[in-house]
Amino acid sequence: MGTSDPILIVGGGLGGLTAALALARHGRRVRVLEGAPQFGAIGYGIQFGPNVFHVFDRLGLSEQVLTVADAPTALLMMDALSGEELIRIPTGASFRARFRHPYIVVHRIDLHNALLEACRQHDAIELVADAMVIDGEDRGDGVAAFTADGRTFIGAALVAADGFRSVFRAKLIGDGEPRPTGYVALRTIVPMAALTANVPRDCVALWAGPGLHIVHYPLRHGTEFNIVAVFRTVTHAEKGDAASYRDELAIAYRETHPSMRALIGMMDLRWRRAVADRHPVRHWHKGRIVLLGDAAHAPLQSLAQGAGMAIEDGLCLAQLIDATDGDFPAAFRRFEAARLLRTARVQLESRALWDFFYHLDEGIARDVRNATVAEWDEAHLFACLSWLYDGAPEPAAAGR
Ligand SMILES: Cc1cc2nc3c(=O)[nH]c(=O)nc-3n(C[C@H](O)[C@H](O)[C@H](O)COP(=O)(O)OP(=O)(O)OC[C@H]3O[C@@H](n4cnc5c(N)ncnc54)[C@H](O)[C@@H]3O)c2cc1C
Repeated sequence: MGTSDPILIVGGGLGGLTAALALARHGRRVRVLEGAPQFGAIGYGIQFGPNVFHVFDRLGLSEQVLTVADAPTALLMMDALSGEELIRIPTGASFRARFRHPYIVVHRIDLHNALLEACRQHDAIELVADAMVIDGEDRGDGVAAFTADGRTFIGAALVAADGFRSVFRAKLIGDGEPRPTGYVALRTIVPMAALTANVPRDCVALWAGPGLHIVHYPLRHGTEFNIVAVFRTVTHAEKGDAASYRDELAIAYRETHPSMRALIGMMDLRWRRAVADRHPVRHWHKGRIVLLGDAAHAPLQSLAQGAGMAIEDGLCLAQLIDATDGDFPAAFRRFEAARLLRTARVQLESRALWDFFYHLDEGIARDVRNATVAEWDEAHLFACLSWLYDGAPEPAAAGR
């Protein structure tokens, strides 16, 4: 083993593939081990703030991503009970002038394919599907990863981008299962032509109500419509059948605005997941093994930034491996230092939004929220989002 061995990346999701591309562009050989039979993504929409374009620009990917993405005209927050528009963040010319890049929504499969295509064009990247990694070890001068079917892969270092139930998080941090919230999420994509609900079609809209919300937005150049319904339920940890999910939705959303109830009637009941996140931790590497993306710092989806953070991680890690000339433990220490405060802030603000902003019961707290946000103008909203949307600081400066 030695520096000529490839860097092993466990997990070919958005974080793993971004890291692979960024490392290859810095002249490193990479082998991506993906547990699924094929590289690919589950087919739902995903939102990205302008911050990810700082990464896509560096990887030469912005044009491909923009080709498959939609740019909504605004981000809206509506009151789920009254239907009142509470917040409108315009994402047109003034937003682009301020943040230099657009806000986008994109089908996860389309973005994944853009990244995969770029990886396939790089000789330094080897993509290995059907390689479910069950364990790994740091051997001092290199690493080994072991798969469920008995194979061993040798590498110079191991980047665990294996998501929110990471095998390597269990090994390095050992903090058990993700923290449940008591909420579940259902996701659906319908053809735009089949959308009957009276809702904005060219924006990202979030309807916020007591113990529930719905997010929706257009996809694939306005031909499809993505809906995510999230609500609190005592059955969050249980599996049920379609009939029980349907009844539960009807009860949970019974007091909400008619437009929301119309959306609920369109939900596909096959994809239902408990919503959970991770507590922030200071350290997520040991020797030559490091966590990346959700494996290191999975947030709730309140800021729609989990994948954005995984993508930022990928570039930052490659830059630091380059800056330390392949001294992996040193690079990984600097990586944690560079990424800790930003990713932990996403985790903590996402929780605060979840508990104290989106899901307030009818009562004084909701009245206070609605009256407060009524005073927020564009300049204030842009200022609130600048820490996030201006992008991550260059790691060299952050690591000193
Ligand atoms: C309802 C919902 C909405 C969301 N919306 C947004 C949004 O709008 N914007 C946003 O930025 N984020 C969003 N997120 C968060 C986002 O999905 C995650 O943060 C992101 O997918 C994390 O990327 P990752 O590459 O770290 O992990 P993952 O995407 O989970 O990828 C992990 C990969 O590793 C593979 N893998 C796992 N275990 C192994 C193993 N042992 N061996 C080999 N391979 C393995 C998996 O098959 C997978 O391909 C949302 C999340 C949810 C639940």
